[in-house]
Amino acid sequence: MDLFEYQARDLFESHRIPVLAGAVATNPEEAELIAAKIGGKVVVKAQVKIGGRGKAGGVKLAENASDAKEKAKAILGMDIKGHIVKKVMIAQAAPIDSEYYLAILLDRANRNFLVMASVAGGMEIEEVAHKTPEKLARVGIDPNTGIDKSQAIEIIKAGQFPTDVVDQVAEVLIKLWEAFIKEDATLMEINPLVKSLDGKIIALDGKVTLDDNSSFRHPDHESLIDHGSTNPLEALAKEKDLNYVKLDGQVGIIGNGAGLVMSTLDVVAYAGEKYGVKPANFLDIGGGASAEVMADGLSIILRDEDVRSVFVNVFGGITSCDAVANGIVQALKILGNQATKPIVVRLDGNNVDLGRKILNEANHPLIEQLDTMDGAAAKAAQLAAK
Ligand code: GDP
Ligand code: MN
Repeated sequence: MDLFEYQARDLFESHRIPVLAGAVATNPEEAELIAAKIGGKVVVKAQVKIGGRGKAGGVKLAENASDAKEKAKAILGMDIKGHIVKKVMIAQAAPIDSEYYLAILLDRANRNFLVMASVAGGMEIEEVAHKTPEKLARVGIDPNTGIDKSQAIEIIKAGQFPTDVVDQVAEVLIKLWEAFIKEDATLMEINPLVKSLDGKIIALDGKVTLDDNSSFRHPDHESLIDHGSTNPLEALAKEKDLNYVKLDGQVGIIGNGAGLVMSTLDVVAYAGEKYGVKPANFLDIGGGASAEVMADGLSIILRDEDVRSVFVNVFGGITSCDAVANGIVQALKILGNQATKPIVVRLDGNNVDLGRKILNEANHPLIEQLDTMDGAAAKAAQLAAK
């Protein structure tokens, strides 16, 4: 889960990473109240989960509370790269001397964590890496040992930070590491980390991604979820523990195993080119697909108004084809007249003959069986085109 900047700010504050006073507002009046409470100059910042807000006009300095109200009015409702601004953060303004970059992320390729530190902050780090790679330190961190003071200082020096801030920034890095581990994050980025005119180091913008796999040990993370932006079908699928992702096509997809479902999306996309139809979703019902799981999956897909046909693509393994076939038959009984769209089934693998026989004998008007994945994909695409 990606956090909004104001949530990252609060999280940083709770781990004693230096931040400025700030709070979130959903309307101009609220923005004015917060600005008055903070006092003096404030910055009004669009809260969208995308970078480059500064350049897009989503970050504005306000002289006082009534100015903050005007700036909030201008920023709320703005479209930043397809993200509509529904909230703004009002933050105490910082007189900036320099802007730096500091981040910790999960490095999947090297199976450890990576610290990136650079004296060149504020802009996109990809640009720094491309144009002035010598100004960007990239240091792998062993998860078992973490970062100690001397290593932190070494990293900050390698990022070419000026001598007078090295100690302070190294301290922020150690706190950022502690926060990263305690919160089970996969990304914590501060850009810019600034030196204020009076020499203080402050995190001015934060980007945080928390690892959803760890949510069971962070009940407090629940409150960070942005329910307003979650697709309702995805939310329902999550409740049922299904791996479902809504896409924008018309052919509903159910398969067992993420790899099989991914290749099913490919063959359906290919077969659908002829008819102008595409896969409507990703749904992996996993290895031991019971009738109940099949029913849950089918019911979510059938609820999708964009879906015009469904392709069930199953390779029988430990759960054999006859068990899956029985699951489909029972699922259709459970769904009753909720099931209204044609369902193309392709079974293969363990006990395929018995599986096909069960579906044939059930003789359900919505079900059509095909032997091959390509053939079934073509049929499902054709049915969706009607
Ligand atoms: P981003 O463009 O989405 O990454 O948004 P940022 O929060 O990084 O803001 C973009 C730029 O706005 C920063 O690099 C700063 O130059 C500027 N900015 C942000 N907050 C403040 C502030 O409190 N005071 C001043 N003077 N500038 C700020
Ligand atoms: Mn930024």
